[in-house]
Amino acid sequence: MKKTIALIAHDNKKPEIIEWANKNKEILQNFNLCGTGTTSKKIQESTGLKVKGYLSGPLGGDQQIGALVATGEIDLVVFFCDPLQAQPHDPDVKALLRITNVYNVAIATNVATADLVIKSMTNN
Ligand code: PGA
Repeated sequence: MKKTIALIAHDNKKPEIIEWANKNKEILQNFNLCGTGTTSKKIQESTGLKVKGYLSGPLGGDQQIGALVATGEIDLVVFFCDPLQAQPHDPDVKALLRITNVYNVAIATNVATADLVIKSMTNN
């Protein structure tokens, strides 16, 4: 069965996740992809990959992804969060990080980690 990857990036990190998705397009096409509203739309537009979009992060999208983590529907979260700017939905960001740790689901919060994890997932 295809594994599922959730893709999320804060506004200042969207160029990075789009670049990362393009760089790993060949690999990503073997997964089910989903993400928060704006991130998923932008990745889909740039790569042509199908990315199921949930609500925008600040409007509940992070919580929707968190619920999917809790019900075992996500195998990896790629979440490029902005360490230099306060987010209005900081509690939701923390909740998503927490729930991945509750369920031991991989979460990559920067490009270096996402590169390592995606490479390891191609062997399974
Ligand atoms: P967005 O949400 O993809 O809808 O911009 C990301 C976030 O800020 O959590």
